[in-house]
Amino acid sequence: MQSFDVVIVGAGAAGLFCAGVAGQLGLKVLVLDHSEKVAEKIRISGGGRANFTNVDVTAANFLSENPRFCRSALSRYTPQHFLALMQRHGIPFHEKHKGQLFCDRSAEDIIQMLIDLGIPVHERAPEADELMREVETWIEAEMHRLDPEAYVGQH
Ligand SMILES: Cc1cc2nc3c(=O)[nH]c(=O)nc-3n(C[C@H](O)[C@H](O)[C@H](O)COP(=O)(O)OP(=O)(O)OC[C@H]3O[C@@H](n4cnc5c(N)ncnc54)[C@H](O)[C@@H]3O)c2cc1C
Repeated sequence: MQSFDVVIVGAGAAGLFCAGVAGQLGLKVLVLDHSEKVAEKIRISGGGRANFTNVDVTAANFLSENPRFCRSALSRYTPQHFLALMQRHGIPFHEKHKGQLFCDRSAEDIIQMLIDLGIPVHERAPEADELMREVETWIEAEMHRLDPEAYVGQH
């Protein structure tokens, strides 16, 4: 029986990024997903090229019952942080219209980048059934580099 510091249900954009950050903080992470493939929504986003951010985005662009959450989240992790991450991974992108950024090649680049944060993917591992009946995909994140500033921005 293995043990983990963090178990994340859902290997979508949020789950994979969260796993990457937790791993960068030195935690042992397990990501569980019941789909055949991870990150299916990223794959189809932006017509297959992922409109992954907008350079001009601010908290004023979000509707929320708690506007302070967006202000706080965006002040700690801006579109420029994500662009820097894309550039570190050598992913080409372009601006299409009014600050909208898309991958030049394919949304697959972003999926691969999230996996390359250090997550070995073991699909359909039998142990997954013991933990969650409907889960078929088992992703284990083991990252030993400790570089949280690069991923979570300024404190
Ligand atoms: C056609 C389309 C185009 C889009 N284009 C864009 C775009 O260009 N730009 C943009 O910013 N956004 C776009 N979006 C929205 C964007 O894709 C989503 O907001 C984003 O992917 C959501 O990520 P998530 O991690 O929150 O959720 P999801 O991607 O939905 O991830 C949730 C994961 O959890 C898994 N899961 C759910 N329940 C369970 C369970 N019980 N057990 C195990 N696993 C479970 C699912 O299989 C899935 O992998 C688009 C969406 C669609 C549908």
